[in-house]
Amino acid sequence: MNNTIPHAGSVLKNYIGGEFVSSDMLFDNVNPVDGTIINQVAEANQQMVDQAVIAAQSALHGEWGKLSLEQRCKLLHKVADGIDARFDEFVTAEMADTGKSFFQARTIDIPRGAANFKIFADMVKSQSSECFHTDTPDGKGALNYAVNKPLGVVAVIAPWNLPLLLMTWKLAPAMAAGNVIIAKPSEETPATATLLAEVMHDAGIPKGVFNLVHGFGHKSAGEFLTTHKGVDAITFTGESSTGSAIMKASADGVKALSFELGGKNAGIIFDDCDFDEAVAGTARSVFTNGGQVCLCTERLYVHRSIFDKFVDALKVKAEALNIGWPLDESTDMGPVISHKHRDKVLAYYQSAIDDGATVITGGGAPSFGDARDNGAFVQPTIFTGLSEQSKIVKEEVFGPVCHITPFDDEDEAIAMANDSDYGLAATVWTTNLQRAHRVAGQMDVGICWVNSWYLRDLRTPFGGMKLSGVGREGGVHSLNFYSEPTNICIKL
Ligand code: NAD
Repeated sequence: MNNTIPHAGSVLKNYIGGEFVSSDMLFDNVNPVDGTIINQVAEANQQMVDQAVIAAQSALHGEWGKLSLEQRCKLLHKVADGIDARFDEFVTAEMADTGKSFFQARTIDIPRGAANFKIFADMVKSQSSECFHTDTPDGKGALNYAVNKPLGVVAVIAPWNLPLLLMTWKLAPAMAAGNVIIAKPSEETPATATLLAEVMHDAGIPKGVFNLVHGFGHKSAGEFLTTHKGVDAITFTGESSTGSAIMKASADGVKALSFELGGKNAGIIFDDCDFDEAVAGTARSVFTNGGQVCLCTERLYVHRSIFDKFVDALKVKAEALNIGWPLDESTDMGPVISHKHRDKVLAYYQSAIDDGATVITGGGAPSFGDARDNGAFVQPTIFTGLSEQSKIVKEEVFGPVCHITPFDDEDEAIAMANDSDYGLAATVWTTNLQRAHRVAGQMDVGICWVNSWYLRDLRTPFGGMKLSGVGREGGVHSLNFYSEPTNICIKL
């Protein structure tokens, strides 16, 4: 594999109306493994966002809007093929921006990024619409049917944890449904979105259909987009507090909103679980991507009869994790995304210790004695002994950490798991079939896994309750969000 980081040492540009454009405001893109600067990023100003909106609107009413569904889907397949053709570059860029392991970038992030285009291009061809025959007083009746049209200009605002995967999870269905896009990646992870713009360009996506603006949220490209009169819909993945800010900022425009927000996900481990599978699955659900997946488990509830044995076994798994260089094949876990985020995670660790937690393992930052000491690493950490009201048990940390609480009966476990402002995901470990159905159905979440974690079927509804989001993505749910149905009533 070629490990040269694409655009290393140069400037990552915006992509507006089919042109790559720089700006006079540059910010650094930092590698969280060793704190080095990978390249610089051209921040889009208000005028550039205005230009992107105009370019998108003209594409919607121009060539793109006139393509047949078949032609549109062929182009989306070309985008997927373009990602595959530059697979190594995407993997290297994603690793440099995030510090995630080579294994994860090449088996999850980039393949799923490409697959999203293929899946939604194929799925949109079988999107159905409603049709009703309606009785009328004259006995002749009327026919009602709905036709789907695109929403228009869609702002796609993405986070840094799974940069290409989550951006394309929104882009692909939006484009499949005929929309035009202005995408803003996280300021922490601008690289793969820039490569994607190059792939779109080379695939012949008409100019203005896909625009990319770089920058931050408040008083930057993010806010310019969410408050823009020409933006018809906003699809956002990120923190719940940012979702709330976007909802307020976009309220005057009454825009369509789809929000995938934070989580504080619970795992319940019953004494009748397959113990080894429960430990291995829980370790994955706590520590994958350094705990920086919205679906990661941060609260564990373990039946008292197996509590000590489970804590000991999870400790062994945590201490066996190899923390290190992304390119090292044996690396299980990289750094967190930035020094700022490392400080936030470490402050949560300290708050747990101040609250009187028992530190089972971790609780601080590792020391390597090499360049990684300039990076943003934290230790995989397990706490026990805190009250359910402790800050670290209540708030999303978004790091490789969990707190484990014992329980005595099923109702108590369900009540503790549901006692959260969030409602994204849960996991239940049991071999009792009735219990599995009974407990899973009572979880106040958008997705509940039984005896697994992160087992995804992209056709299923995905999203959160409470502070975890608004709406559902996945399969027909995504296509429906990105489509505006017009009902046509024909008197027969
Ligand atoms: P974030 O909210 O800080 O940023 C996300 C994006 O929003 C970035 O592109 C950022 O620049 C932009 N942004 C920030 N403020 C903005 C504003 N005022 N207006 C417009 N845009 C703004 O989130 P993050 O730190 O990048 O991501 C981590 C969070 O995302 C965690 O809370 C995690 O749980 C959540 N997440 C949720 C899901 C899900 O599917 N539910 C998936 C992944 C991540």
